[in-house]
Amino acid sequence: MAKRTVSQLDVAGKLVLVRVDFNIPIEQGVEAIASYDQRLRATLPTIRYLKDQGSRVILCSHLGRPGGKVVDSLRLAPVGDRLAKLLGSQVKCLSETIGPRVEDTVGSMQSCEVALLENLRFYAGEEKNDPDFARSLADLADCFVMDAFAVTHRAHASTVGLPGLLPSAMGLLVQREVESLGQALDIKVEAKPLAALMGGAKVSDKILVLENLLTKLDHLIVGGGMSVTFLRAQGYETGASSIEEDRLEFAKEVLSRATKLGVQVHLPVDVVVADRFADDASGVETVLVNQVPPGSLIMDIGPITANLFSESLGQCKTIVWNGPMGVFEMPNFSHGTRTVAGAIANLSGVTSVVGGGSTAEAVEELGLMDRMTHVSTGGGASLEFLEGKDLPGIAALPDA
Ligand code: ADP
Ligand code: MG
Repeated sequence: MAKRTVSQLDVAGKLVLVRVDFNIPIEQGVEAIASYDQRLRATLPTIRYLKDQGSRVILCSHLGRPGGKVVDSLRLAPVGDRLAKLLGSQVKCLSETIGPRVEDTVGSMQSCEVALLENLRFYAGEEKNDPDFARSLADLADCFVMDAFAVTHRAHASTVGLPGLLPSAMGLLVQREVESLGQALDIKVEAKPLAALMGGAKVSDKILVLENLLTKLDHLIVGGGMSVTFLRAQGYETGASSIEEDRLEFAKEVLSRATKLGVQVHLPVDVVVADRFADDASGVETVLVNQVPPGSLIMDIGPITANLFSESLGQCKTIVWNGPMGVFEMPNFSHGTRTVAGAIANLSGVTSVVGGGSTAEAVEELGLMDRMTHVSTGGGASLEFLEGKDLPGIAALPDA
């Protein structure tokens, strides 16, 4: 059942409490906030929509891990200041989250004004989903909009407590996330062929995603560290790469189930190896998968593989990508990820959905965010969504 959207909520002139994700690594310094503009920009459509409706907008977010007490370095005001620049209008930053002073301030807000409450996690009640804390938040507003997709997999006061206390709906960002990621899970015939491009460090992190997607796929394309376990399951020598012994059976099973289901599986045919896990490692060379030297680590897919993967992706109408093809943080081992990202970006008429924190980071670093149909803002939440799990922060919202 679809959840209620903000356009179905009566927000005109109302005090609307909006849960956003402004969790920016502020320990990198206030100057670094601007490099995380993407996270703030993602919330602008909902804020602008509410302003257009004449709402009084109260934003709330967590920042870092203050552990239920006030930590001055984790105040949200610097983030609010940056938001004001992006929004092009004032954002009133409060130094508290709940209580009489906050009630006074929001009570005197004018239509179209925007305020930002202090860090939710300065209060232990947030992460404990304490009903009193949720009630104090709810008392500030007439209704609630959930627009922090990245925390929908957490059952906190501001994610699952509030929807029980106020008329509530998904914001435009959460709506976009649910619709985009949902396309893969509820794949329509006309949106096929569907490919899952999977990578990242380990098979074990991706088992549930694989399980949930496999029956829907036309192509399963596997790179990254997880492909090493698949290669080993096929009997290849994988040098000194750490493989997941306890996942070899699972990898074999996926391969045989895929064959039965008619899913085409694509594994690396060449790889980039190094003698240690470092960008300046020696012995960096590209070899065929049956020639991995003993003692070498597999760090990236090779160029033949990257081109074969790109060709298969080019045959698809929908692509779900989760997991980098190699250790993309090290320039020497970023080519595979770069090549497939570029190939997806250059496809036309294709729906491309990117999930996972590191994968989104890679796409952003490559400057290809706008060339994908959707890059999820929810690292862990996007994975749980692709696993087919009910996200508590979405489940708690009323149906449309
Ligand atoms: P996501 O966050 O997008 O779900 P993961 O967390 O599963 O992705 O994986 C990302 C990590 O996988 C990256 O830090 C990357 O360095 C690592 N990785 C990719 N390929 C390899 C490899 N061959 N060996 C070791 N680590 C790898
Ligand atoms: Mg990750």
